[in-house]
Amino acid sequence: MSDPADLTISEAGAAMRAGALTSVDLTEAVLQRARVTESELHAFLTLDQAGAKSAAEAADASLAAGDDAGPLHGIPIALKDNMCTKGIETTAASQILSGWVPPYNATVVDRLAAAGAVVVGKTNLDEFAMGSSTENSAYGTTRNPWDTDTVPGGSSGGSAAAVAAGSAMGGFGSDTGGSIRQPAALCGVVGLKPTYGLVSRYGLIAFASSLDQIGPFARSVDDAVVLLEAIAGFDIHDATSIRGEVPNFRGSLNEGVAGLKIGIVTELSTTGIDPEVKAAVSRTVDRLSDAGADVVDVSLPSCEYGLSAYYLIAPAECSANLARFDGVRFGHRAEGLTTEDMMAATRAEGFGPEVIRRILLGTYALSAGYYDAFYGQAQRVRTLIRRQFSAAYEDVDILVSPTSPTTAFPIGDRTADPIAMYYADVCTIPVNLTGDPGISVPVGLDSKGLPIGFQLMAPALGEERLLQVAKVVEDQAVFTDRAALATSEVAS
Ligand code: GLN
Repeated sequence: MSDPADLTISEAGAAMRAGALTSVDLTEAVLQRARVTESELHAFLTLDQAGAKSAAEAADASLAAGDDAGPLHGIPIALKDNMCTKGIETTAASQILSGWVPPYNATVVDRLAAAGAVVVGKTNLDEFAMGSSTENSAYGTTRNPWDTDTVPGGSSGGSAAAVAAGSAMGGFGSDTGGSIRQPAALCGVVGLKPTYGLVSRYGLIAFASSLDQIGPFARSVDDAVVLLEAIAGFDIHDATSIRGEVPNFRGSLNEGVAGLKIGIVTELSTTGIDPEVKAAVSRTVDRLSDAGADVVDVSLPSCEYGLSAYYLIAPAECSANLARFDGVRFGHRAEGLTTEDMMAATRAEGFGPEVIRRILLGTYALSAGYYDAFYGQAQRVRTLIRRQFSAAYEDVDILVSPTSPTTAFPIGDRTADPIAMYYADVCTIPVNLTGDPGISVPVGLDSKGLPIGFQLMAPALGEERLLQVAKVVEDQAVFTDRAALATSEVAS
């Protein structure tokens, strides 16, 4: 058999149930890949080798006893380090949370345990999920396994890189403005942001609560479905969690696209998009049309204001959410003569420059006299975008665009220019503002050999249709390349 670390989740599950592979073998293969690649990649902030081994042993024992928890049973996965894990340090890649060990699990972590998954570790991110390259981590940059001189995207760059390199079979990230889909695109894997409220945010360290959503990274659309199924559903601990039955995500997974109407969003597919990305997107659209879809152009003019609205709303919410990090309850505490001095010094020492910039931006946007002109106006733009998307979905089933305007960029290229960095999410932000689901599927490589992602978007709770079309995109693109750091010569 080839290296088990390279199997898909369904292949590994089948091999385990046929007695050809154990979870311990599989977990060991994935950890071995991590041991070989981590010195270059730095995808993980914590690699929990001992915990993963004992979880894998338990998974093998329960499977042998006939207690099968389903398709994730015994599968090694990675979690972004902004999801609370009881007993395992959780830092959100910030100095301010250095050494903080949560006393409880995020709901997704409990659900993954119930599904039999094996957690191999906690992955790197931009501090508090603010960034598009993972360069804003307080603990060093993650590198892209396709080309280690380039970024893996962000903010969930560690999970994307781990899945692309084979140091996890599936991963989880959070997406506030594109932090799952953009790194998935740059690392050549599938990344899904579910409908807002479909997955519990309980135990996710909050960035911008009206936008944050947890979702999976996978090597195939089928695997993304399995990972999503394990975490979706109502949670009493999250006030924004959607009540009711979890929709069936796989009902029409293999039904193709014949008869479906697909809209290319003009405003997200033309200006500022790299020509090679544009070409790959138009090839993909042609294939969808060959497969029987009716493809049309759709204009959503309000998308042009998405980035500006996001960079008022997200910082405004973050300035409130991050007020809790004051040296009293969590992590780092600085010296100070008075409580106020201590709090000010803790925050000055604990937060990195991008987080400070966001808090300042947010505080300004919310301040008396400016509130209506900035925050209020951004909320109005958000409503406008939501209305334009709803109107578009009266006519089309799925909207598409590039995921990211460019492929992976060199490390250091945009660190001095926040606006250039923010532009990385121009295509992904709109559906965070609407709350709708979006997915990135790899569709090819550019002339430098770097992956290109194709974004599909659907109305709220439209995951079934979204995955159905994503599957056709994946089949038609036949994206079988693997990252350089995942190939056997490097990895073995
Ligand atoms: N890059 C965007 C930002 O910096 C999105 C981050 C995210 O989705 N967490 O805010």
